[in-house]
Order: sequence, then C-alpha cells, then structure tokens
Amino acid sequence: MMISERWSGQVRQTDCAPDLDDAYDVIVVGLGTAGAMAAIRAARLGMRVLGVERMHAMGGAGTLGGVTGYYFGTRGGIYEEMDRQTAELEAASFLKAGGVNAAAKSIVLERAAAQAGVDFHYESVVLGVIMEGRRVVGLRWTGPLGIRRSGCRVLIDASGEAEVCALAGCETRQGRDIDGQVQPFSNVVQRLSGHKVVHHYTDSGYVDAADPEALSRAIVESSLLETHLKPVYEEEPLLLKVVPQLGLREGRLIVGEETVTFHDFIEERYSGQPLFYAYSNLDNHSKDIAFESEAQQDWTVVAGLWGLNFTVPIPMGSHIPRGTEGLLVAGRSLSLDHDLAGCIRMKRDMQKSGEAAADMAYLSIRKGCSLKELPYEELRPLLEETGCLERDKGVEFKDSSMPAEHGYLTRKWLTDPAEIRQELAGTKPGIAIWSARRLGGQLAAELREWMAEAAEEEEEHLMKHSAMALGLIGDPAAIPALRRIVEERDMFVPYTSRKYNQVRGYAAIYLLGKLRDKQIVPELLRILRDPDALPDLPPEERNWEFISDSQELYFQYASYSVMALLRIGDGHPELRDSIAAAIRDWLGQPELALRISFKGSRVIKYAMQDRTRMIVEKHLSGWSRSVSEAP
Ligand SMILES: Cc1cc2nc3c(=O)[nH]c(=O)nc-3n(C[C@H](O)[C@H](O)[C@H](O)COP(=O)(O)OP(=O)(O)OC[C@H]3O[C@@H](n4cnc5c(N)ncnc54)[C@H](O)[C@@H]3O)c2cc1C
Repeated sequence: MMISERWSGQVRQTDCAPDLDDAYDVIVVGLGTAGAMAAIRAARLGMRVLGVERMHAMGGAGTLGGVTGYYFGTRGGIYEEMDRQTAELEAASFLKAGGVNAAAKSIVLERAAAQAGVDFHYESVVLGVIMEGRRVVGLRWTGPLGIRRSGCRVLIDASGEAEVCALAGCETRQGRDIDGQVQPFSNVVQRLSGHKVVHHYTDSGYVDAADPEALSRAIVESSLLETHLKPVYEEEPLLLKVVPQLGLREGRLIVGEETVTFHDFIEERYSGQPLFYAYSNLDNHSKDIAFESEAQQDWTVVAGLWGLNFTVPIPMGSHIPRGTEGLLVAGRSLSLDHDLAGCIRMKRDMQKSGEAAADMAYLSIRKGCSLKELPYEELRPLLEETGCLERDKGVEFKDSSMPAEHGYLTRKWLTDPAEIRQELAGTKPGIAIWSARRLGGQLAAELREWMAEAAEEEEEHLMKHSAMALGLIGDPAAIPALRRIVEERDMFVPYTSRKYNQVRGYAAIYLLGKLRDKQIVPELLRILRDPDALPDLPPEERNWEFISDSQELYFQYASYSVMALLRIGDGHPELRDSIAAAIRDWLGQPELALRISFKGSRVIKYAMQDRTRMIVEKHLSGWSRSVSEAP
C-alpha cells in the first residue's frame, strides 16, 4: 500500500502499513452541493458511508457560500425532496430568505444524512489518499479527534477542487487554453432587506484556488471590498455578513475516462448514456472573450448565443478520473473543457452529479465490478427511480429571452433557406447564423447571393449577417463585407440574447482573423493606435453590463484586433516580423490603459495590460520556435 500526501505543496508517495482504523463502502470528501447528495443517496442505498467536510455545515456553495438561488439546471432527483423540506422548515422557523434558505437547508441535509446513517465529520480535512497501485482504497484524514485512516471501496471526491484526485496523482486541467485563467470569483454578502435575508454576488477578481497564498489574499481582499463596506449603512438592505465560503466558479477539472467538450457539443456529438442532463447557457463571467476558445467566440460573439440555454447529456466517464479505480468525482470538477465548465456547474445539476456518483458507487460495489465497466442498463433504472435522469429527455435548446407558457421558448435550428434569410435580415440573427453554420457549404451559394442582393438593395442587416454566417463557414467571399463592417466601426449590437450581446464591429474583426485576411492588417493597427477614434456605443445599444464605458469598448476592439493580427500572422509567416513589432510597440506604450470591469459591476476595474502582454508573448514565442525548428 502507498499513501499519497502533500508536503510543502508537493505530492509525495510513500509506502504505508496495510492496517486501517475503520472500513466504509463509500467515503465522500466535501459535503457541499454535490457531496451532501452523494452521501445521503449512498447511505439510503444501504452503503456504509463516511463524510468528511472541512467546514461546519453541509451544502457548500449553496449554504455557507450564500448561492441560494437556482439558475437553470434540470429538475428531478433527491435534491427536490430536500428543497421541499427546506421550504417547510423555513416557513415554520426561519426569517424568509431569497431562493432556498441556506440555514434551513443545512439543517435539512444534516437531518437526512443522520437518518440515512451517514457517519459525517465537520472541521475535518483530507491529509492523504491510500492506494494500491492505481486503486484508491482509503483516506487519511484529520478532524477534532485527530488523524484517522479509513478504508473504502469507492471514494467520491466532491471537494469542488478535485483535491483528492490531485493527491491521487490524477491528471487535471484548469482554465482556458490560452492562459489557464478560470472564471472570476465573487464576493458574496448576506443582507437584510425588509424582513428578508438576501444574498448578493459581486464578481471581484481572479484566483487560482489551488494556490493557498493567492486564495487567502483573495478572501481578505474580497472581504474588504468597498462595494459592501460602505462608511455608513443608512438604508436597507443592511449588511449581515460576508459569507464564510468564497464564491469560486471554476477550479481544477479532472481528465476523465470521457471528457465533455463544447466543441463536441456544437458538432452534435453527444453521449447516448447520460447519468443526467445539465442545463444552462454558456455562462462565462469573464469579459475578455477575445482570449477564449474559437468555439466559444463562434457561439457567443458571432452568433450572439450567450442566452441560448441547452441541455447536455452527462456521461459516466466524466465522473471517473482516467486511469484510476475506486475513485469518482462529483460536482464542478467533472471532466469538462473550460467552455462547458461555464455551463455545467449549476446547483441543480451539481446535486444530480452527487446523486449519480452515489448510484455508480453503489452498483459497482453490489456487482463487484469496476466503475468503468458498469452496465448502463442496470444503472439507468436507479437514476430514473428518483428523477435524477428524466425519462424521454434529449438535447434541447431554449431561448432565455423569450418566455413561453411553460418556461422559455424551445428553439430549433432552421433548415428552410427562406426562414434563415428572414431572420438574417432582422435584429436578432443568432439562430439563423448558427443554422447557416450547421448547413455549411450547402447554404454558401444562397448566402453569397443574399449578400450581393442586400448590398444593392441597401439591406444592411441581411448583407452583414449573411457575411457573418459565411465567415463562420470559412468562406472567403465574406471578406469584403466583413472589412466594411470593421472600417465603419459598426457599433450595432444584434439582440439575439437577453444580455451580453456583442458589437458587430469586433465580431467581424474576429472573423477576419479566422479567415487570415492580410489586407485588414493596417486597419487593425489603426484601431490599436488610436483609442479615441472609436465612436461611442450608442445609448440604444443597451449593453452596459458588458461594455460600461469607452475604455471597455476600446479593450474589446483592441483585444479582438490583437488576436486577429496573431491569427493572420499564423497564416502568413512573411508578415510575422512586422506584426510582432507593431504589437510590441503598442503594448510598450507607458500610457496604454487596458481596463475592464466585471460583469454586472461597473465599480471594480481590472487592468488587462499584463495579461494581454503575456498572451501575446506566448503566441510570438511559438512563431520564433517555428522559425528555429524549420529545416
Ligand atoms: C458566486 C457564485 C454564484 C453562483 N450562482 C449560481 C446560481 O445563481 N444558481 C446556480 O444554480 N448555481 C450558481 N453557482 C454555481 C454553483 O453554486 C456551484 O457550481 C456549485 O454549488 C458547486 O458545487 P460543488 O459541490 O462542486 O462545490 P461546493 O458546493 O463548493 O462543495 C464543495 C465542498 O467541499 C468541501 N471541501 C473542499 N475541500 C475539502 C477538503 N480538502 N476536505 C474536506 N472538505 C473539503 C467544501 O467545504 C465544500 O463544502 C454560482 C457559483 C458561484 C461561485
């Protein structure tokens, strides 16, 4: 047997004696949003369960973290029973709260865990993972009673940070490809408004939660934010407290037996064996979208589909760290890419992830088979029994800006060219742009025709949106119209989504970069060099949550221009020296101010010079390497 522990920040494996203090079927680390459900469900299925939680209550982000509201996610599963009981307890004993009452929910979870027979321990943390080869067989942990070594047949890592997986030496990934940046964290405060307890989030910074010093600094800085520490509270809402758990949206993600990626999703490659369906939009809180993946920019910048919600089937393999036995993950560190991590993280779905992990653990123990070999046909009835997996559900898209009688309007991709043309001619063209992308080459001739006709008839939207669709397909015929959009500094914001729509001018810059259009280079350099030459965003382009002032508008234009220049340099090696020199020149200006605020908050500004420099230099070093490696 080996024990894998962290010493001064480094994971070290040493031999250990095979004696254990106790033995469980299932150990759950972290009794938060996902972990509480995992522990309760596993115990209800007759498993002997140990729960280890470092805080002093259950529920994690949803209780101590003050994230009390639900934002999408799918219905069904045992969390609904917990929420019903929470509502009853609140009505009987608590001050009314917005969303699901955090204090009442902790009690309900504790009661359910105790009734089911979970042996749970607060103020307790993981010290090490006990392993036999690649199989996890136990946990070394400590709590108020001191250090214990507990054996298990399956360990569920629901720490939200894949902490156990990292200790067990599993491969993990973090943040976006270009620079590893995760989503911003929030400071969450609890307030009293009338007789109601409410929680308020302020996106306030970026942190790598695996770096303990950075995390402590973020907690302190977030507690001292001027947004809630006003000199005097004269009016309601009154401040009750800063919650004890920092609002971390994204951290380590495991590399699992199966990874669910946004790229696969938009290419319509889905799992046919879901544990449950996750449901939300691509809810990335960052504003520097020019540094996100092309898949994300195609979707949110060109098509403006930020507000299109979708269901994603979540497979078993996304819960199993690759190459391990006896280990599962539940909660927000599933095997996803960074793009989808913005969507597959909502509380309803994370609770389902915990429940599904418990079902997997139970079945593998009952059958004595590996987690990787679980027969789906035997797992499915367990998932369906509680509603964790809804029968007859499939992949669907809902337009969150269009209310229908029961929730939001279901949208289908368009296939009829006449309908696509009609929507491209309007101010809400996103579904048509994406529908055209799906049809690809089949629709290219029509798009070219519409573009030419519209130019003659001066039908601006049809001409420009057809060009954007064509650009997304990769057809160079779009280039002249896209150049025109850039040259005009077109500030029109198509209203496809309920918010966070993107300006057409920089969407065109992005596309010209993708199309490697070298003629646009001088225009892009003009944009960089003259921040004052951009027109204002007209007041009717109601987009202040994304672009709150002219500095932010400049950052958007500049960041898209830089990324387009780098892509053009990728495609035209003869331009690399001049592009590199021009960008370095621009970034070297002492007076350069690149600043953005966080979504929903105009108060906190974030300086972007260093990040932009880092991204540019990384890209340019790739160019130097390709020269030195040339034969
Ligand atoms: C600011 C913010 C706003 C959000 N808004 C919404 C919203 O409006 N609606 C919505 O549905 N979702 C929202 N989300 C998303 C959602 O709240 C989270 O993604 C989800 O709750 C994460 O669940 P989890 O189980 O992975 O992590 P958590 O709920 O954080 O649980 C992890 C648990 O593990 C424990 N733990 C960690 N490390 C250890 C260790 N080493 N040993 C023992 N215990 C450990 C922690 O104390 C915690 O209890 C929001 C998230 C944030 C941060």
